[in-house]
Amino acid sequence: MSLQATMPMLRELYEKNARLLLGAVRQRKRVSSVSRLSGPMFITLEHGLEQLVDQVVSQITEYTDVKVNTQALDIQLTSDGKYYIHIVEEGRESLVPADAIILATPAFDSAVLLSGLEIDVRKLKTIRYASTATVSFGYTRPSYAFSLVGSGFLVPRHEGIIITACTVVSNKWVHASKKGTLLIRCYVGRDGDEEAVTWDDEKLIRKVKKDLEKTTGLKDEPEFVHIKRWKSSMPQYDVGHLQRLEQIDQEIAKLPGIFLAGAAYRGMGIPDCIQDATRVSQHVKNYLHE
Ligand SMILES: Cc1cc2nc3c(=O)[nH]c(=O)nc-3n(C[C@H](O)[C@H](O)[C@H](O)COP(=O)(O)OP(=O)(O)OC[C@H]3O[C@@H](n4cnc5c(N)ncnc54)[C@H](O)[C@@H]3O)c2cc1C
Repeated sequence: MSLQATMPMLRELYEKNARLLLGAVRQRKRVSSVSRLSGPMFITLEHGLEQLVDQVVSQITEYTDVKVNTQALDIQLTSDGKYYIHIVEEGRESLVPADAIILATPAFDSAVLLSGLEIDVRKLKTIRYASTATVSFGYTRPSYAFSLVGSGFLVPRHEGIIITACTVVSNKWVHASKKGTLLIRCYVGRDGDEEAVTWDDEKLIRKVKKDLEKTTGLKDEPEFVHIKRWKSSMPQYDVGHLQRLEQIDQEIAKLPGIFLAGAAYRGMGIPDCIQDATRVSQHVKNYLHE
């Protein structure tokens, strides 16, 4: 993974202090007296992330035709320099004219959408993605719950268990569950180790429960289990990511009016994606006013 692309603040610590741990200790002392240098990498919203989408939709519907359940098939450029997005909506295909286009699709989908245009999309295709799955357990009367402190933990690769991380949702985001209940979300699957994501529900639940007991001691039977598989959902910022990004930007610049945004490029947390969207929307604004 590219440290510069995923955690630039760690790279800076390393460079300033020659050692990462030493730097972290010095930084911690400094940060306790000064406000945090940057916001959190990941966020959530008090009444659910759906609010984010609802808010965006409510702010743009007045002047926008929002199309849901619609797939973009490709982008076409006519000889007089006009873009058309070829879409399929409820089985009907049509061409939507566009002055500018932001592709906020995963890099591999963006590569497909742009493949009919005169640019090299090979670099876009090299941004790899990993799959993950979440297995959530809910306990309404947990016997052990109240000794389970902290917001969760990460599991290093060589621990020999399939869960890669665990969030004690009821501790981390207290609004997300009723008082006195316990909600735990376990993650499986990471880059190079994604087999568990393909297991059937029964096997997945059995294995995750076993790991949860091993790591936390929790033996209770959950009242509900919810599984969600996220196929090719986590872009991997491999070493050289920033150089790759530069090369992609150079190619995209050959198509004035086309822009890329989203988790594949400049940070995958929601705050990063919002920041990237803000950056790109400014570029679009400038382009349309040129
Ligand atoms: C399991 C998991 C948990 C996470 N938890 C958090 C968290 O708690 N907090 C946080 O800050 N971040 C979290 N993240 C990271 C963050 O949620 C994602 O990186 C971010 O939502 C990605 O947003 P995006 O818009 O770039 O991509 P996506 O959300 O993947 O959106 C891309 C969209 O493009 C659509 N699309 C693709 N191809 C086409 C096409 N041809 N035509 C039309 N539409 C198309 C897809 O259907 C999709 O809706 C999590 C990520 C994962 C995988």
